[in-house]
Amino acid sequence: MKEILSGADLHHFAESLIQEVNTLGEAQEIISRAVSFVADKLHIGRVLVMLDTPPSVFDLKGTKETRVVYAGFRGYDAEPIERRFSLVNNGSLQLAWYPIKGHSWSDDEKRYLEIVMDYIYLKGLGVRVGELLSRSAFVDSMTGANNTQKLMQYGTMLERSRRLPEFVALFENIKNFRYINRFYGDRNGDYILKELVRTIYFSLSAEELIVRLGGDNFVVLVKKQNLDAHLELLSNLKIRLQHAGLEQDVEIQMRCGIYHPAPGDQVGDLLMCSSAALQYAKHMVGEQIVYFKPSMLEYSIRAKEVSVLFPKAINEREFEAFYQPKVDLKTGALCGAEALVRWRRGGIIVPPGDFVPILEQEGTICTLDYYMLDLICRDINRWRRDGLEPVPISVNFSKLHLHESNFAERILSIIDENSVNHSDIEVELTEESGYEDFAALSEFIDTMNANGVATSIDDFGTGYSSLNIVKNLHTNVIKLDKSFLDNIRTEKEQESDVTLICAVIKLVKDLGMEVLAEGIELPAQVEFLREQGCNKAQGYFFDKPLNEIEYRKRLLGKRIYSL
Ligand code: C2E
Ligand code: MG
Ligand code: MG
Repeated sequence: MKEILSGADLHHFAESLIQEVNTLGEAQEIISRAVSFVADKLHIGRVLVMLDTPPSVFDLKGTKETRVVYAGFRGYDAEPIERRFSLVNNGSLQLAWYPIKGHSWSDDEKRYLEIVMDYIYLKGLGVRVGELLSRSAFVDSMTGANNTQKLMQYGTMLERSRRLPEFVALFENIKNFRYINRFYGDRNGDYILKELVRTIYFSLSAEELIVRLGGDNFVVLVKKQNLDAHLELLSNLKIRLQHAGLEQDVEIQMRCGIYHPAPGDQVGDLLMCSSAALQYAKHMVGEQIVYFKPSMLEYSIRAKEVSVLFPKAINEREFEAFYQPKVDLKTGALCGAEALVRWRRGGIIVPPGDFVPILEQEGTICTLDYYMLDLICRDINRWRRDGLEPVPISVNFSKLHLHESNFAERILSIIDENSVNHSDIEVELTEESGYEDFAALSEFIDTMNANGVATSIDDFGTGYSSLNIVKNLHTNVIKLDKSFLDNIRTEKEQESDVTLICAVIKLVKDLGMEVLAEGIELPAQVEFLREQGCNKAQGYFFDKPLNEIEYRKRLLGKRIYSL
């Protein structure tokens, strides 16, 4: 082979490629310089590099680009020599070499070109691998979203350049993802996460970020001016998947806590404040989107404390039942009581509002509910042993139990293990909106009916409750929520309130169920409810929730309230 490039030329060329570069853009510069060392001797007019890498978790958009890495001033001929090399992840790197105008390459020149191309390919491959490797350190390998390291790195960079306040931080979480996973299966669950990331990722600008923290928890950093568009996207998310042989659109509801960074904030503040707002969003029924307020931090600290203390508190039996009497509105007779949990913590009685929603969010409420049922059964036995005839006690159960396969069996077995009559216990549940939950609720109620345990639908008149759903449930009692009756016979009373309550009472009774009004505080409310034929009532007007010692006195007494 005729020597066109000397050993020194090749050495010079190769050495100029040995430089550390991190991106293909940087690689382009050094390749361009290296080619210029050999261009004259090889009569090279122009060199194009075409990179084509399909989308992957490391590069969700994929890359398709053509760059001119060398262009001599003597023009080039139309016919190039092309070579295609494979890259990692099914990608390819294609090189096109054009001779200078009017030149056609000899075989020897072509052989040298091959050598030069091999070097360039190896350089390109090395840079690409390096690029993917460095990206993989910052990418969640399941979805291709960024990971926490990236958030920290990018956030710190923004923090140092005082640019954090240009962004808004959103802590996002898929509502009911646990149940979506259970219903559609884990594989579809994974698919939903991947599609969700892709959808959000493609809506973001180059400066914005979606980060998966793990599970279905994400942090999104968007520019302030893009917040509305992002929320609009979240409000309308549907993911199409195959389930049970059918293509289905799954509606995804995102809950998010939003934080507008203040000057001087650090990345950690973004996480802390947006997650505090998300926690708040989870506990406020119907609120999917909550903007951070400083008071939310206290709440999140308390939530942490509750979840840490809970296991020990259960073990050490720190939870007690208070009993709130229910009164028959016809006779004034004590006709039942609702058991309401209280947490005795070092001499302080903590009300359920301070811990039930937190345990509900964690799912640990289910443990507490069974614990309470057992405790109540023991109280009932003690009253019997002491010669007191108990009245039925209703026990609150979280709607989370509806997702347990053995909910009904566990209730029955706790009652039976304590040898308590089935008719001494009533189960209170709040109505659920989704059809899946409705089916579970309905089946549960039927099992309870078949076993002689009464059920009631709690908090009717709040949230999603509808008579249309209730009419298909064979429950015994509908409990009208306090808020439903608050305005009755007060200066705020409106005719529409009265009409609605009268209609509900009539309908519920026509459907063969009893109506109990909760939170009754005023004599006028009692009078109104009696006129309307409401069966029972419960509220401070009669009694507050009483500890066991006080409640015992009611069982011992005349058991009649004046109406
Ligand atoms: P709920 O089941 O709707 O219970 C009624 C709540 O209204 C009770 O609050 C009761 O003390 C309160 N209340 C009763 N009469 C009046 C009144 O005249 N005026 C006013 N302002 N309030 C009245 P409490 O005990 O704080 O319980 C709050 C909620 O916590 C309960 O609402 C229930 O959803 C939940 N809860 C309580 N115990 C348990 C439990 O063991 N398990 C579960 N899962 N939830 C529970
Ligand atoms: Mg209740
Ligand atoms: Mg209630």
